[in-house]
Amino acid sequence: MSLKKFSISFLKEHEIRYFINNNNEYASFECLICYKKANLHLETTKWECSYCKTVGDIESLIKLCETKLKQHERTIEIFYNPRKEKNEVNYHLKKLILKSKGTEFEKELLKIQNKIERLLEELIPKRAT
Ligand SMILES: [Zn+2]
Repeated sequence: MSLKKFSISFLKEHEIRYFINNNNEYASFECLICYKKANLHLETTKWECSYCKTVGDIESLIKLCETKLKQHERTIEIFYNPRKEKNEVNYHLKKLILKSKGTEFEKELLKIQNKIERLLEELIPKRAT
């Protein structure tokens, strides 16, 4: 796998928002530090965020991603918010349903979505109004 392909599949796999620039040389992606636009050179994998001035290569990006993930898991443990989790489950399900449009999985996923929605309505206490 070329570095270019690897970089792109890395961004995809980690659900980092990105787009390839017109010249096909750079990918702009959401900086993992400041969440603004950073640029990744697809051949060299060197990247730079012009906002928070962080620089690195694909290896540092992978490490950064792992650290973030660990931090994220820790945060979930401490601040488990059922409503937020419900929204995230819905979000990921919707994404799956969109991807499965027209395939054999679409109906099953819609069924699961309805069932999960009902179940969560039963389980999660209503917000006091
Ligand atoms: Zn940044």
